[in-house]
Amino acid sequence: MKKLLLLLLAALIYTNLRAQHIDCDTRPTGKLIIFSQEQKDKIANAINAPFTVKIFVTVFADDDGSHRGATDENILRQIQNMANQYQPQNICFVLGGIRQVNNSDLNTHTKDTEAAEVLPFREPGFINIFIHNSLPGLNGTAYGIPNTYLSLSGGAIASLDNVSTLGHELGHCLGLYHTFETVDENGNSNKENVARAGACQNCATAGDVICDTPADDDGGVNAACVYIGGGKDACNVSYAPMTTNMMGYGSRPCRSIFTNGQGERMRTFLTTDPSLTPLVVQDIIYTPIFGNTTISSGTGYIFARDAVYVSDGSPNLTVNSTAVQFFQAKKVSLKSGTKFSPGTGGKVSVKSNPYCN
Ligand SMILES: [Zn+2]
Repeated sequence: MKKLLLLLLAALIYTNLRAQHIDCDTRPTGKLIIFSQEQKDKIANAINAPFTVKIFVTVFADDDGSHRGATDENILRQIQNMANQYQPQNICFVLGGIRQVNNSDLNTHTKDTEAAEVLPFREPGFINIFIHNSLPGLNGTAYGIPNTYLSLSGGAIASLDNVSTLGHELGHCLGLYHTFETVDENGNSNKENVARAGACQNCATAGDVICDTPADDDGGVNAACVYIGGGKDACNVSYAPMTTNMMGYGSRPCRSIFTNGQGERMRTFLTTDPSLTPLVVQDIIYTPIFGNTTISSGTGYIFARDAVYVSDGSPNLTVNSTAVQFFQAKKVSLKSGTKFSPGTGGKVSVKSNPYCN
């Protein structure tokens, strides 16, 4: 009996370890996307510029409003963690809002069978971050690479030591594969070798198709962030993965770094991918441009990276009635002539963006 209990206990511990190990299930679906040096050289100016990406959070709760996926406080803490992770790669974020949707079905979201159910809840013009109280079997998923929406379990947002799942999934949205990716688009083995020169080198076309992330066999990482796998590649060379990389698995508290190669790849997607380019804000916006303008209905976002100038020059802006209008940048300047007089159901929000340096 004791032996059986021990066996059961061992099985439980093993299951738990495996469950913890599953971070996300996001794999290449279409053809592997590889940018040539020639392609990158052509758009070098654009790729090397700073990027500000619009994000919007939908947090689900049950039909009666209970079991909310995460608190605003924890959501904002994880967005700040993500901003810190992306800042060295010249990518920052502007948060459009956090909205609660009461829907018990979506609050427990089984990704494999219910993936399409999140689609109607996307806010257009943003990378959408969905937070579910339960995302069985997963910490997060980006559904595709690249993509414009992702889902996270509430636990991944509430956790104080896991500061990386949001940034990891967003990395998939911006075109990054796992550092330990092993297959091509046809599911054929495409494992990366350790070598960065000679006959065994394949880093530009295998694994995550990025050469400044070391080859990774997902062999395991201990709490001290040391690789414990001991695996060898096809050329019999021992793996020495970067255990702090955002796009590996290993120990989630260890992850905080995107390499320059990963940063360049994300900025290349933000420059070239038709689904992502509309989600990047301009550096400076002047509004209105052509004549006096009145906004009286609908929801609008006027976001820029550095500055939004309202009524700067001769044309003036009025926002009234039921219009819901958001202004956000590092600096928002409201010149004389600007008139905000929201009516019932209307709202004007003017905010300095805390997530860009
Ligand atoms: Zn992943």
